[in-house]
Amino acid sequence: MSQDFTSETALALDQQDELRAFRSRFLIPPLQGKESVYLCGNSLGLQPKTTAASIQQELDDWAKLGVEGHVHGRRPWLSYHEQFAAPLARLTGALPEEVVAMNGLTVNLHILMISFYRPTAQRYRIICEEKAFPSDSYALQSQALLHGLQPADVIHEIKPRVGQAHLEEEDILEAIRAEGDALALVMIGGVNYYTGQVFDMERITRETHAVGAIAGFDLAHAIGNIELNLHAWNVDFAAWCSYKYLNSGPGSVAGIYIHEKHASNPDTFRLAGWWGHDKASRFKMEPEFVPIPTAESWQMSNAPVLSMAALKASLDIFDEAGMDRLVAKSRKLTAYLHKLLEELQQMPLHQGLFSIITPKQRGCQLSLLFHRDGKKAFDYLFAHGVIADWREPDVIRIAPAPLYNSYTDAFQFAHILSQFNV
Ligand SMILES: *Cc1c(COP(=O)(O)O)cnc(C)c1O
Repeated sequence: MSQDFTSETALALDQQDELRAFRSRFLIPPLQGKESVYLCGNSLGLQPKTTAASIQQELDDWAKLGVEGHVHGRRPWLSYHEQFAAPLARLTGALPEEVVAMNGLTVNLHILMISFYRPTAQRYRIICEEKAFPSDSYALQSQALLHGLQPADVIHEIKPRVGQAHLEEEDILEAIRAEGDALALVMIGGVNYYTGQVFDMERITRETHAVGAIAGFDLAHAIGNIELNLHAWNVDFAAWCSYKYLNSGPGSVAGIYIHEKHASNPDTFRLAGWWGHDKASRFKMEPEFVPIPTAESWQMSNAPVLSMAALKASLDIFDEAGMDRLVAKSRKLTAYLHKLLEELQQMPLHQGLFSIITPKQRGCQLSLLFHRDGKKAFDYLFAHGVIADWREPDVIRIAPAPLYNSYTDAFQFAHILSQFNV
């Protein structure tokens, strides 16, 4: 065991961490009688201590003002969603006109594909990753069926090479070139949920555009985790949820990005509803739909304010911490955890126990593929206060989130796993 494999080293790293105070802004669930080692922010982020008051404010305004809260609330509900344009633009590297908080993630993927998957007899193929999150696969399959096409004729899954878990970027680019004129859409995760692999969205978008197709990304595991520059990368559309790294609570309101060239174009087809209608004339209730020339026109319904109040509490913290600083800490923290795990793999009892299947292109997540006793190891970790994520049949995913996880958390995980008696 090296010098690094000690709680003293972890503590020293925590003391040097300029973001360490943010941990105290979150409610850390107890487990086995003490604060858990929570490494599951890629599944459900922790609750900010400010969330309850943010929701309570809207409940109070509703109690005091009733319908008047739409206009006279402290944060009027009519325009409630508008406050997210700037912070979401900062998190995604978009223009404020290109983003909007709305609905749930899978719902939004469908709404976006209605606009951006418009298959023709010649151009109808979709490239996605094998082992995409199941909801994304179901969405793609049903989009094919919606257009009277067979999923098997439409969907081209990029598979890992033999003996690997992650994808080779070259294989994705090669597939795009090979599909050529037949390719309608590339729809993959910005960060793969299973391996934690980060894809080069700029390169994929460039190659996709070169064959005349559309590039869309599912950012469920990317937003709040890695640096994004959607506008500069020329990405056509993207969608995300807010309950993973964004800490906005279970099932909380999701979000979308649409490049301004599409959003400002009135010819881009969008499913219409009154909340997407020109604001000046919305309440004239006229029969013809006049879209707002921004991503807001994809909103159909009025805003779910209670869930958005949780998003507000969370995004305020992100703005205070800043994505630059978070990404810098994340690189260090995950590299530290990775190093501890490599040491652990050298221990006599742990040789051949697991491999790390997350490639170098990664955010904060590491995925450990167990070659034996994976579920036992997971249960052992849980019994010793670690909340991680188990994926059948053999993978433990851990995600030290730089907002609230410490170097001590990383050390604790490795230390407890080192005690696991195989
Ligand atoms: C978490 C996640 C989802 C979940 O979809 P919901 O519509 O929010 O339930 C979908 N896709 C990916 C890639 C995810 O990581």
